[in-house]
Amino acid sequence: MEFDLIHRYFKTPFGGLAQANPDTVLFGIGDDCATLRLAHDFHLFTSTDTLVEGVHFFSDDPPRVTGWKALASNLSDLAASGASPLGFTLNLSLPEIDENWLAGFSAGLLDIATRFNCPLVGGDTTSAGSNPLKTLSITVFGQAPASHLGFNRAHAKIGEEVWLSGTPGLARLGLLLEYQRRGRLEQLCKGNELPQVQALLAAMPAQLRQIAVSQLGMPVPRIELGLQLRGLASACLDLSDGLSGDLAHISSASEVSAILFQSSLESMWRKLWPEIDQQANAAGLLKILLEQTLAGGDDFELCWTAHPNRHDAIQSLKAGLHRVGVIEPGSGIWLQSQGVSRERVSSCSFNHFAEIQN
Ligand code: ADP
Ligand code: MG
Repeated sequence: MEFDLIHRYFKTPFGGLAQANPDTVLFGIGDDCATLRLAHDFHLFTSTDTLVEGVHFFSDDPPRVTGWKALASNLSDLAASGASPLGFTLNLSLPEIDENWLAGFSAGLLDIATRFNCPLVGGDTTSAGSNPLKTLSITVFGQAPASHLGFNRAHAKIGEEVWLSGTPGLARLGLLLEYQRRGRLEQLCKGNELPQVQALLAAMPAQLRQIAVSQLGMPVPRIELGLQLRGLASACLDLSDGLSGDLAHISSASEVSAILFQSSLESMWRKLWPEIDQQANAAGLLKILLEQTLAGGDDFELCWTAHPNRHDAIQSLKAGLHRVGVIEPGSGIWLQSQGVSRERVSSCSFNHFAEIQN
């Protein structure tokens, strides 16, 4: 049964992708170990992520979306290291054999694996026993020339610029919309935040809602950007837990402070949501939007620092890259508003264990 299932949903549909990469996948699914070949003088990069039903994805999420997101979050780690994908393994712990779910999950996984040419090379499939929830774990493998050592979080230097790809905070809006659709919005809002968040969601144009929900469910890992940033970025990471919390990893490892410019973050949002200025309470909406951007989570955009003399080279890489801050002496994350005033941003990134205990 287990072999049947592995064949039907994994070995057979993913076979073509492994065969299309004969130089890297020497042996894939079916043997005790997969064998991958690195290019000459390349280093191996690896990262792993676990998704638990009810914590990282909803039980009623379309399985195709869950399949996409499971690999997207891992590929995003390779992107943040400037590595290109070689392949991945998949561990599934399932309470029951739900063929509909497996078919959708496998299809979503194959979509993203094909798009990023990342073959499935092995895994493990086990029963969850009496645990009623699915757990998915993916380990991804990538490579980069030995001359590229990754982007160390401790490498941000004073005077460097802070950059973002895309529009971090979008996935958070998607999550708020999904909770609202399920009548559970208050679970995500603290204190008196709820009416403000409701006003923000109500003001969102329909197209932006769609973009936000898709950023949450089907984020596109920035693999290509990560490769382009080799030699340009110093510190880099992907935003999985929120801008303020993730950037704090860079500031503390590098023993510096990161100053974010309110005006830059606002203009980043105006590019995506130009109509926001026509709202009667535009200033209030932008304020909540920035709070969501800082707390964020699940965006899988890249955040990096780079010397100002790299500014033009970075700006010309592609559209949608934003310089939003600067590295200074000191510690912590600060939000600089129009004048000279600055406020310290509390690190409020998503903490799974805090969520569980609450
Ligand atoms: P073993 O007992 O030797 O670990 P298994 O019987 O668990 O092997 O799995 C048989 C083959 O199927 C192995 O090559 C394994 O990597 C692969 N496999 C098992 N589960 C999955 C999965 N969910 N996705 C991809 N490959 C899998
Ligand atoms: Mg096994």
